[in-house]
Amino acid sequence: MKQLKERILKDGKCLEGGILKVDNFINHRMDAGLMMEMAREIVTRFRGTAIDKVLTVEASGIAPAIMVAYLLDVPVVFAKKKVPSTMEGILKSKVFSFTKNHTYEICICDSYLQKGERCLFVDDFLANGNAALGILDLAVQAGAEITGMAFLIEKGFQAGGKMLREKGIRIESLAIIESLDNCKIKLRN
Ligand code: 5GP
Repeated sequence: MKQLKERILKDGKCLEGGILKVDNFINHRMDAGLMMEMAREIVTRFRGTAIDKVLTVEASGIAPAIMVAYLLDVPVVFAKKKVPSTMEGILKSKVFSFTKNHTYEICICDSYLQKGERCLFVDDFLANGNAALGILDLAVQAGAEITGMAFLIEKGFQAGGKMLREKGIRIESLAIIESLDNCKIKLRN
């Protein structure tokens, strides 16, 4: 998506260890107009696919996911990163965080993810695909289906995209980073 790619080149910053910082318009300060354009692009790409629900993981997936869900007129559910003591009937999965270098649990209340539901997973970044695998695991536990996954930014030099596509999952990424070598952002055409 041209608009996003231009913004990444203008405002994105490389950090040590292959991290792309987009705090300026996605992860801290958020550009709502661009976020809505990205949501529209995701909805266009998945036109014709049956979607009953949008799934994401807190916190940074929530903004794009809620806009996609609004446009599709379906509910959005975000997996929580802390298991609330008040929650009953919990589906849980373990996720390794690439940026924070630790394992955490994600959970969804089973009444919000049910058998037969066709779900679109939306997140800000696809890196090694661990968050996506966690969501896939929750969907399997619930008997729900993941009909596709949409990411604002895919880091093409990490393994997640290949791994998920090899599983036969439809992946749509609005911008793919070819490399961050020498702290230079190189985008895939
Ligand atoms: P994965 O689970 O695919 O390995 O990593 C995806 C998650 O890690 C995303 O939800 C995102 O929050 C975070 N992440 C991975 N790489 C980056 C990065 O380069 N920049 C930022 N801002 N977040 C990242």
